[in-house]
Amino acid sequence: MSQFDRTAGADAGAETDAAADLDDADRDLTAALRTESRVLPAEVFATLGNDTRVDILRALLELGADEDPVSFTDLFERVDIDDSANFNYHLRQLTGHFVKRSDDGYEFRYPGRKVVSAIFTGTLTERAQVGFFPVEGSCYDCDGDLHGWYVDDTLTVGCADCGAIQVSYPFPSGGLDDRTTDELLQAFHHYVRHHYCLAADGVCPECTGAVETTLVRDPDEEDLDLAVEHVCRRCNYRLRSTVGVTLLDHAETLLFFSERGVDLNTEPFWTFDWCVSDERTTVVSEDPLRVRLSLPCGGDELRVVVDESVTVVETTLVD
Ligand SMILES: [Zn+2]
Ligand SMILES: [Zn+2]
Repeated sequence: MSQFDRTAGADAGAETDAAADLDDADRDLTAALRTESRVLPAEVFATLGNDTRVDILRALLELGADEDPVSFTDLFERVDIDDSANFNYHLRQLTGHFVKRSDDGYEFRYPGRKVVSAIFTGTLTERAQVGFFPVEGSCYDCDGDLHGWYVDDTLTVGCADCGAIQVSYPFPSGGLDDRTTDELLQAFHHYVRHHYCLAADGVCPECTGAVETTLVRDPDEEDLDLAVEHVCRRCNYRLRSTVGVTLLDHAETLLFFSERGVDLNTEPFWTFDWCVSDERTTVVSEDPLRVRLSLPCGGDELRVVVDESVTVVETTLVD
C-alpha cells in the first residue's frame, strides 16, 4: 500500500467524480469539486478541525479504502457516532476535497490520504524527545565520539567532544515508533539522503515542485565556506547541504566506493567527512565557479569536479 499510488487516479477521475458529486444534496461544495486548488488553506484546516471528520478519515484507512471503496453503512458503523444525520453531515463536509464518493462507496482523494499519513507519521499531533545515544562514526573535526538526540522533530548527530554538528535534519516523530536507536539511525540515513538526492535531482522533497540548485560561496552557515543551496520555486522550501551529499547518488562515485567494498546506499553518510564538512572541497575556478571534491577510499582517491549548478563535469581516479 502506498499513499502515492492514488495521485494519478485522483486527477484523472476529477471530472467524473465532480459530476457524481453534483447529485449530492449538498451543493455548497461544488466550487471545491472542480478545482481542488480553489480551496483555501484556512478552509482546509477548518474542515479538519473536528474529531468526527478525522475519525472518518481514519476509519476509511482501517476499512481498506486504499484498496476498495467503503460503503456508507460500514463507515457509519466504524465511527463512534450514534446520530446518522450528524454523521452524514460531517461526511459531506469531507466529500469533494478529501473523500471521493461513487456508486461503490467512499474512498480517499489524495489530500485526504495525505492527512491520514500526516496523522500517523506524527507530524501533526505528537511531540517526542530522545536523549543522547551513541552513534557510529567519529567527528570530522576532532575525531571524537558521536552521539545523537531528537528534539523538536529534528534528529541531530553531533560530536561528544567538540560539539561540532555532523548532521541535523527534521524527521517525523512517527519514525521513532518500534525502532531501536540503531534502526532509527539507519532510517534517518535513508530519509535524509533521499531528500538531498531528490532536491539535487530538481524535485522538492516537500511539495514535488521544481527545485533550483546552486553552489554558494561563504554562506552564513557556520562551518561551511562552500555549500549547495536548493530552493523550491513552488513552495520556497530551502535546503542547504555540503557539496558532498549531492554526490551520494552519482553513479561514478557509487561505483568507486562499491569497488572498494563500501556501499554508499547503506553506510551512514555522516561517517564520511566529505559529506558533513567542506574540508575536502577545493575551488578550482572562480569564473565560472568550479569546485573539486577529493573522495578517499581504500588508499585511492576519486576527484570530482562540479560546476555552479552542482552538475558533475569531470571525474579523475588517482591511485
Ligand atoms: Zn569533534
Ligand atoms: Zn516545494
